[in-house]
Amino acid sequence: MPPRPRRPAVAAVTLTGASEVVPAASPASRSKPKRQPQPKPKPEPTSPGERLGLRSDWDHALHLPLHYIDETRLTAVAALREGHAAVVQARVVLAEVAGGVRKLLRVQVEDASGQLELRFFHFYANWARQYAVGKLLRIRGEPRAGLFGMEMVHPTCHVARADEPMPERLTPVYPAAAGISQAWLRKAIASARARLDAHEWLPAALLAQQQLPDIASTLDVLHAPTPEVPLATLQDRSHPAWQRVKFDELLAQQLAQQQARARRATQRAWPMAAQRGSQSLTRRLLQVLPFALTPDQQACVAEIAADLEREHPMHRLLQGDVGSGKTVVAALAATQAIDAGFQCALMAPTDILASQHLRKLADWLAPLGVQVAWLRGAQSRRERDAALAAAASGASQLVVGTHAVIQDKVRFARLGLAIVDEQHRFGVAQRLSLRAKGGEGGEGTQAPGTARTGQPVREPHLLMMSATPIPRTLAMAVFGDLDVSTIAHLPPGRSPVQTRVFSDARRDAVIARVRELVAAGRQVYWVCPLVEDSEVLDLRNAEATYAELQAALSGDGAPGEGAHSRVGLLHGRMPAAQKAQVMADFACARLRLLVATTVIEVGVDVPAATLMVIEHAERFGLSQLHQLRGRVGRGAEASECLLLFSAPLSELARARLQALRDSGDGFVLAQRDLELRGPGELLGQRQSGLQALRHADLQTDTDLLDAAREAAIWLLRHDPSAAQQHLQRWLGGRLDWLAA
Ligand code: ADP
Ligand code: MG
Repeated sequence: MPPRPRRPAVAAVTLTGASEVVPAASPASRSKPKRQPQPKPKPEPTSPGERLGLRSDWDHALHLPLHYIDETRLTAVAALREGHAAVVQARVVLAEVAGGVRKLLRVQVEDASGQLELRFFHFYANWARQYAVGKLLRIRGEPRAGLFGMEMVHPTCHVARADEPMPERLTPVYPAAAGISQAWLRKAIASARARLDAHEWLPAALLAQQQLPDIASTLDVLHAPTPEVPLATLQDRSHPAWQRVKFDELLAQQLAQQQARARRATQRAWPMAAQRGSQSLTRRLLQVLPFALTPDQQACVAEIAADLEREHPMHRLLQGDVGSGKTVVAALAATQAIDAGFQCALMAPTDILASQHLRKLADWLAPLGVQVAWLRGAQSRRERDAALAAAASGASQLVVGTHAVIQDKVRFARLGLAIVDEQHRFGVAQRLSLRAKGGEGGEGTQAPGTARTGQPVREPHLLMMSATPIPRTLAMAVFGDLDVSTIAHLPPGRSPVQTRVFSDARRDAVIARVRELVAAGRQVYWVCPLVEDSEVLDLRNAEATYAELQAALSGDGAPGEGAHSRVGLLHGRMPAAQKAQVMADFACARLRLLVATTVIEVGVDVPAATLMVIEHAERFGLSQLHQLRGRVGRGAEASECLLLFSAPLSELARARLQALRDSGDGFVLAQRDLELRGPGELLGQRQSGLQALRHADLQTDTDLLDAAREAAIWLLRHDPSAAQQHLQRWLGGRLDWLAA
């Protein structure tokens, strides 16, 4: 993703409060475990363009400048103004390497109006020769007042011919990435544009109605504006050319969604009538639940139940904050499917989460006679074969697992419902292959109309769950093709989590708090920092912290109860069985303090834990922090979350921590996250559709979004071939992603 050029300004934030210490670049008070960079496997060789996600000529043409440099005019040296970038053409009158240890190249230049000094702190030895006395240079840079008149530090310059013409257009500056030069990008984009067939596919009437320019002149203005174009309108993207690009982008997205919706209307699924008799599984589950459903849960259950009764596949997102009680809603969907004689598959992104689901669902359903099978990556051959056979024969009515559920070998006798937890963690391809499982007729297929009998393939109903609430505008734009059910309120009896922010320098105080709580018989999570892209480093970090906390807690326990028996370590590289053991030990309070990498992020449910410490909180995203914090505050006891950061904090990190401190509401935080980061990051790279939204801003372009939706409907009806061309141009190879 290119950096988003426009971010809402983040006001400087001061965190106040007695116990909260904020920045002043304080060195961490402890010695950090030594980190050595691990040798990384060499990445696939990619072209610079591919690294920016640019493949086709259109991709290049739609890679738009962040801003522009006006190199169309020369400024006389005497007319330079401090802080105003300008282009100067002047002759070298002096070039020397000065300074002691830190060398400095000084180049003094002169035009008819005066002298200017160029200063280079980084330079190649041959530059002094290149910029020799008498050479004519064309220089672009930002002047500042020096001791002896104007100077420029590290200007861009080249030796100019006396008759070298001035460019007629502004020079674009594109979003780039490390190692990709503007010169390279300008060339690549210019040549892609030269090859482009910029045929106008949209009807003139539509463009006129929306007051939008045609595509060829749009691209021309955006890549190479003349000096007359008001720069401010390009910068704030209000220029009609920008409106056109944003409109086109939203139109493509709306077209893709309309198509997906139309396609789905032609798909069939098995209708699964809700059984409400006293012998139905659904009724019996409701009777054994230790709590009553909240009104929100009831409403979601009803919406899902109605979908399942229909002959078209459900495509529904169940969203609810962490701890809002989505699992039981999913279980009630499963019982409806099972009551109707179908199988249900439930897929979760991690072993830990899947095994929690397994435990909870098996606790509820197994006593009611439901056969549950368990499929995961690391599993003995025998266990696995048995689970596969039970899924294929239909003997298991509920199959729970990780990605293992969607592997090729897995066959279902009659899969009626697929549930995906933490759906944003799965790729679209994975969701697609889960859906494809419905049409297969394995051994023992009783349902008529499967592929085998030549009748239309039926898809399973799909229920996706997410604890990352999506703001309404985003949901509309991205999931126009998805129905959404929301659990807006937590079950009663939860106490809000008190959140506080600490500098790393106060680590000792935080550890003291941990000791205090553990001594009082409470349970604590300690989450270790993320180290970018390196599980090995994550692990080393976690191990160091584990040792540190063991040492800190030793000697506190009852006689015979050493710290070793009370502090546990959980990380992604542990074998699944060991992970499960540690989790089980923590769940039954044999372990009091759990040091973990982010493997505990999703779904872990230990109501007795009341303190969550997150180290290097500044490295986590807002929703991730919220998810982590959601591990506590699940019981009636007051809970707290301590966020440790190491200074200095970036503005954005500070805003995140403050938002988290000030709100416990996932929807509020999601909205804040959207403001802080932009939607692409909010939904994650995997959230397909949004990769396409590079230009439009759902915060501010809602009018365009509405217009694009109307135009999409109109175009599909009246000019389907233009619609296809438009989609191809904008989304190319990404089309099936949008349909998923
Ligand atoms: P999440 O939405 O994060 O998946 P869970 O389904 O794990 O949340 O539910 C969190 C906790 O709340 C669980 O311990 C669950 O048993 C409990 N719970 C769910 N619904 C209710 C309810 N209506 N009343 C009380 N507790 C509930
Ligand atoms: Mg959950």
